Amino acid sequence: MKEMKLVSKRFGKINPLSIDEYINFDGYKNLKKALKMEKTSIIEEVEKAYLRGRGGAGFPTAIKMMGLAKETNKEKFIICNADEGEPGNFKDRYLMENDPHQVLEGMLIVAYATGATKGYIYVRGEYQKSISLLKWSIDEAKKNGYLGKNILGSKFNFDIEVRSGAGSYVCGEEFALIESLEGKPGRTRVKPPFPTSVGLHNKPTLINNVETFSTIPSLIEMGGLEFAKIGTPSSTGTKLISLSGNVKHKGVFEIPYGVPIRDVIYKLGGGIEKDRKIKMVQLGGACGPIIPDYMLDMIIDYERFEEFESKTGAGAIIVMDERFDLFDILLKVVRFFQHESCGKCTPCREGHIQLANLIIKFIERKATVKDIISLESLARVIHQASLCGLGQTSPTAIISSLRYFRDDYIDRIEHPQKG
Ligand code: SF4
Repeated sequence: MKEMKLVSKRFGKINPLSIDEYINFDGYKNLKKALKMEKTSIIEEVEKAYLRGRGGAGFPTAIKMMGLAKETNKEKFIICNADEGEPGNFKDRYLMENDPHQVLEGMLIVAYATGATKGYIYVRGEYQKSISLLKWSIDEAKKNGYLGKNILGSKFNFDIEVRSGAGSYVCGEEFALIESLEGKPGRTRVKPPFPTSVGLHNKPTLINNVETFSTIPSLIEMGGLEFAKIGTPSSTGTKLISLSGNVKHKGVFEIPYGVPIRDVIYKLGGGIEKDRKIKMVQLGGACGPIIPDYMLDMIIDYERFEEFESKTGAGAIIVMDERFDLFDILLKVVRFFQHESCGKCTPCREGHIQLANLIIKFIERKATVKDIISLESLARVIHQASLCGLGQTSPTAIISSLRYFRDDYIDRIEHPQKG
């Protein structure tokens, strides 16, 4: 099995500091093509492609673009969400560090199609190299007429600014990110209204992540219908996967949607170190489900993942071999979200503390059947009653483990002496 390289096609083949090398490798040619198209035709191509957001939720990109395009406000913003804080994800960093101009080109095409007047890239503070490369690339793009006023001799004016987050996980959530960009604490807002109507500084704002914007130039080059032929009916195009854990070859791999998880682990990742058995795999990052080995023939697409109340997420696959204990991993996940909770709503703020206490009872083999019921109902309450994506997705690991690793829970209850 080989990778299918659309957005990663320049990785390692160009110097990311050189705009000339980007231009010589098809760079900015799709912006030139887009500038000759009707704005509505660009959005139609994205709609035909059925491009879905690569940040996790999988919202159709064309609907966001239509939402922003119909707003008549003189000031409209687009934001590239580069706050890649999900543990196990590092593909947006690869995109920014290996091909920063592709991110800019994607943002420029979306801005032109929607009438956006200013763009921001919100990068997590730990990604200092990405921040430097993006700033350098923006300067180069300005010097060469790809950013600023009358871009490439057209009437299109657009500028992009890089802003840095301070390492808060919740700022990856779109309204928390907007609050942070406005200089406030990163806390979500109640929806609706959605950002495309009332976003940054109460102006219409479109937010997509780095991979989504990076996909736009290839989509414009191929056309929407050709793009839609890649992948599966519900999940078109390619996906960058951050593969980590106990695999022989860790890294970022680009695959068409529809590839089984097992193929990514064994054919691209080379299998498990020392040929050990897989105990569990976490998909999407800390907020994703934990599944056993027998489920690894499941294909990667939005529809399959939604069947077990998950999203394809940002595309992380974290492999843990037989040496790892389920409850140690669950406690790490819960503690992570307990730490990252912004505290605004009760189910998330208090619920993670109680989840951790229950998991510890299983680690210490002091749990009873009642604790399984408490754990399950508490996880469901946090999932359903939390205000933002953090609380809504953080219990996924526990909920999935209760379904697929129930024997591990029963074993802890029935054999208190083992530990
Ligand atoms: S779910 Fe958690 S992170 Fe989100 S608003 Fe509520 S307390 Fe804050």
